[in-house]
Amino acid sequence: MIYLMEAFMKRALFTFSLVCLVTVCVQAQRPSPDQIPAENGDITVQPIRHGSVVLNWNGTTIYVDPVQNKETFQGIDSPDIILITDIHGDHLNMEAINALNTESTTFVVPQAVADRLSESAYMNQLVILENGKSTEQKGIPIRAIPMYNLPQAEDSRHPKGRGNGYILTLGGKHVYLSGDTEGIPEMRSLTGIDVAFVCMNLPYTMDVNQAADAVLDFEPEIVYPYHYRGQDIQKFKELVNAKNKNIDVRLKNWYPGDEN
Ligand code: ZN
Repeated sequence: MIYLMEAFMKRALFTFSLVCLVTVCVQAQRPSPDQIPAENGDITVQPIRHGSVVLNWNGTTIYVDPVQNKETFQGIDSPDIILITDIHGDHLNMEAINALNTESTTFVVPQAVADRLSESAYMNQLVILENGKSTEQKGIPIRAIPMYNLPQAEDSRHPKGRGNGYILTLGGKHVYLSGDTEGIPEMRSLTGIDVAFVCMNLPYTMDVNQAADAVLDFEPEIVYPYHYRGQDIQKFKELVNAKNKNIDVRLKNWYPGDEN
């Protein structure tokens, strides 16, 4: 009898441990969201992966460059707006988009992305935005900012004019998403940015030195390094704060489940 009880307890403990492990694993796949105070409620910042982020404010959910699959976005509201920065697979990812409920989604995209979606199921949901142009979608002002490699060249990984960075205004806060770029003049001359997401990875964009230098020029209140695979983001934080302690550099894990 005692033996049976022991066996039962062991099995219960094993099952319990397994449930805990699965729960922890699911949570570990997604870093905890940040809440940033704004008018009419906080902005929720949910890091997803690499260049992918979900923002929520005042009941509106915005996905930026959604990647991966259905599980990645489990438990997150469906997108009211999807912003896509560029044509590459880590930004325009059909597997991820097709897995989402996009029935009432507006896609804000550059022309080059629109060309790739022109015969898709989303062709009537596109708003095409050129560098420097603005739109308002579902009450959210959105401006397209250039993103490109230096020196400029037609055959560079990111020629000027093809992709869009974006500035969104959410509850009076200006949120900048760099897209894949180097420390271009258009980034350095930005003013009044409250929250910035800045890319840094070689050879596609820029290293942490150039990223820190550009960030020190436009002095956002808060900056998140994102799209940083293989880079030393701790060093980025040190470089920024060595020259400006007031910039809040927030390090989040954009590669959950990976080794690094
Ligand atoms: Zn990229």
